[in-house]
Amino acid sequence: MGKGKGHVPVRTCVSCMAKRRKQDLARFVLNAEGRLIFDEASSMKGRGVYTCKTGNCMDGLKNGRKILRAFQRLSTKGSGRGSAEQGRIGGFNGKS
Ligand SMILES: [Zn+2]
Repeated sequence: MGKGKGHVPVRTCVSCMAKRRKQDLARFVLNAEGRLIFDEASSMKGRGVYTCKTGNCMDGLKNGRKILRAFQRLSTKGSGRGSAEQGRIGGFNGKS
């Protein structure tokens, strides 16, 4: 009984793309204003991304590009969940 070995949650560092155990990574979330927040307790809501806790990888986040891409990737990946469909057809106003 007990939990089998080898089932450790693994996340990918968005900076160097290394796969590590979640506990070995630092988590960041993007708030409503598009600001990056260090989620120290890993308990914040919202989409999170992970980086190594090394200076290099966290520095890589500060310039913002990589992380924004990572978030974009996340949002394209999770298709079909809760998002409003943009299937609106309009423009038949008949004005001339
Ligand atoms: Zn890394």
